[in-house]
Amino acid sequence: MKVAWFREFGGPEVLTYEEAPDPEPEPGEALVRVRATGVNHVDLDMRAGVSRFPITFPHTLGLEYSGEVAAIRGGGGRVKEGDRVWVFNRIPCGSCEYCMSGRDNLCVQGGDRGRRVPGGYAQLVTLPVSALRPMPDHVPFEDAAAAPIAFGTAWHVLINRGGLQAGDTVLIQAAGSGIGSAAIQIARHAGATIITTASTDEKLARAAEMGAHHTINYAREEFPQRVRDLTGGRGVDLVMEHVGGEVFTKSLECLKRDGAIVTVGGHSGEVVPFDIIPFFRNEYRLLGSSGATRPELMRVMEMVFQGAFRPVVSRVLDLSQAAEAHRLVDSRDFFGKVLLTP
Ligand SMILES: [Zn+2]
Repeated sequence: MKVAWFREFGGPEVLTYEEAPDPEPEPGEALVRVRATGVNHVDLDMRAGVSRFPITFPHTLGLEYSGEVAAIRGGGGRVKEGDRVWVFNRIPCGSCEYCMSGRDNLCVQGGDRGRRVPGGYAQLVTLPVSALRPMPDHVPFEDAAAAPIAFGTAWHVLINRGGLQAGDTVLIQAAGSGIGSAAIQIARHAGATIITTASTDEKLARAAEMGAHHTINYAREEFPQRVRDLTGGRGVDLVMEHVGGEVFTKSLECLKRDGAIVTVGGHSGEVVPFDIIPFFRNEYRLLGSSGATRPELMRVMEMVFQGAFRPVVSRVLDLSQAAEAHRLVDSRDFFGKVLLTP
């Protein structure tokens, strides 16, 4: 099979497109022919060696993908050879305290595809049959590969961690990213008033089309002041923050008293100072968020399959252009998701 992998940390050029042995499924595993793979910003961090995840070489990235079942070793359960499938990227143990309490996204043993074991930047992958979910014929492989991380993560941030309710006002940072465009759709579904930010008017126009009520060009405007103006001085109930650095600290200035900020990314600055005094006097709340639980993933994917949520696919490149895909994601010159097709 062909694979795009890397043997050392570095720039996009360390991703090489090569021939590799076909993986062999173990008992209880399936061999899946990958048709589309999502490229995520964390892929770039893992390639560059700054992700803080353990990596062994050669490493095959790819946290979300869709494809067809090529073979099954042992019983297939709910899928059979030839079925079109999407996959759970985490394989939880099912027996730790987090799995037992329905929080399998926090599983202490769960190995992530593309993080601790080979992922979807390949023509073939093997994984436990329990990680496969069937997808309907009318849904393109690209949509199924573009949706799990963006919609699963955004759902977990807004609904689970942030407790977003109808009537709330939410600030969603970076509308042009995969997770930002998904969050706008989820917040609209939840009945919230949506304020969002982006660096260009073109991205903001797309965000407004998708349901954002107010848009702020952060290259031109001070977004904390604009948020105060838009909310009559009150501030927002919730901020989804996945940029980090100064965007994180300025986001704190956008909260109403008792407002919450959920943080889920930090590539613009991973260590940030912030003023503790207004934080406690206003009873602000700060929460982390990591991935999504399996029930959340199943719910958002069902809504994608029903057409209630629409993954935004910006560019689809051949797997041999994995390095180019990384340059594109790094440039942020796109709206939605970048995909690879092997
Ligand atoms: Zn577990």
